[in-house]
Amino acid sequence: MSNHLPVPTASHSNLLVCHGCDHLFEDIPCEHGQQLSCTYCGEVLKVSHRNWLMQAAAFTATGVILFVLSLMFPFIDLEAAGQEHSTRILSGVTALLEREQYLLASLVFITIFLMPLVELAGLGYVILSRLLNIKPPGLARVLHLLFVIRPWNMMEIFFIGVLVTTIKLGDIATLIPGVGLFAFAALIVVLIYSHTHLDREALWHWLMWENRFVGREGERLIGCHGCGAQVGESLLDVNDHCPRCHSTVRKRIPDSYQRTLALLIAATVLYLPANLLPIMTTVQLGRESSDTIMSGVVHLFQAGAIGIALVVFVASVIVPIAKIFAIAYLLWAVKRGRKGNPRKQAQLYRVTEFIGRWSMIDVFVVTLLVALVQFGVLANIEPGGAILCFAGVVVLTMLAAETFDPRLIWDAHSD
Ligand SMILES: [Zn+2]
Ligand SMILES: [Zn+2]
Repeated sequence: MSNHLPVPTASHSNLLVCHGCDHLFEDIPCEHGQQLSCTYCGEVLKVSHRNWLMQAAAFTATGVILFVLSLMFPFIDLEAAGQEHSTRILSGVTALLEREQYLLASLVFITIFLMPLVELAGLGYVILSRLLNIKPPGLARVLHLLFVIRPWNMMEIFFIGVLVTTIKLGDIATLIPGVGLFAFAALIVVLIYSHTHLDREALWHWLMWENRFVGREGERLIGCHGCGAQVGESLLDVNDHCPRCHSTVRKRIPDSYQRTLALLIAATVLYLPANLLPIMTTVQLGRESSDTIMSGVVHLFQAGAIGIALVVFVASVIVPIAKIFAIAYLLWAVKRGRKGNPRKQAQLYRVTEFIGRWSMIDVFVVTLLVALVQFGVLANIEPGGAILCFAGVVVLTMLAAETFDPRLIWDAHSD
């Protein structure tokens, strides 16, 4: 009888596992700026940068300074009817809290403040450790976390929200951008650069050279999403944690189909009130008017801001519905098996994952308008019932995309 537990053997392998489809590739050296992509599903396997450590360190240090500046200085000054009103980056959150919109306030706080802060702190911790060549506790977890939280940092979307708000308020007030806003804009660019220059592979190799853990020779290898290590199937039956980064390694996300479907149904249900209820109410000289998402777009069109109107229309109307249909199609294709082209479906999944966050624009616009337009009887803007439902649609579809395991696409096409 050979019913004993597999003995793990750790070694270094020159292979990369694709997270999108589980195919194995040889890790070949890349030139500066080049990247390796999976030939099956198109997922990026690795990106190469020369001098990445010094560059990432410089960008992160600049990021810390910009973050402090964006907090210290006013974001936007608004002038209307002889009154002046200065806002800071978190004024929108305060305005929402005053109106007991706790869920919405938390969502805005997390996506424009907390996540960038955690990201900067995490980057600093990792880069400093590497520069000093020390391996403090929790380093592996921090490195893993940096990539998990990335989609939830929505600074760039917030910035587009600022532009939309400026145009919306153009005819009733004068808006003066502050130092805080410029620092914020620069921080967006700097954070993207810090991230793209961080060589994840090189960091994991430095933390632990061994990246291949097998129980039996020739067994199927599962890629760890946390660090890219390859873990043998037999080891996962005993302990589902990656020996290198300790994150959970799953052959497939458990109940991926059912959980994605449940999130999708919830998002679809919320989609109706999100579009039918008013997203905000404006009281101007005692006259009250409500706007839905669609009427907001129409007003932008009428104001002549065609470009911005299109951006808001695509982000708020087209993207949520397209995302719901795309995930529904992927679930159907996976359930039916051997339907359609797996490569195209994998591409559709990646696009869906990427564009989903952009629907947050309207949530940020309403938050900003509520914070900015507070002139007592002259003009006031209050959030409407749709805004929470709409934020719900965005978050639920984002979670649905994260819960969907793209490897199911390839399972459906293999015997
Ligand atoms: Zn792949
Ligand atoms: Zn790992």
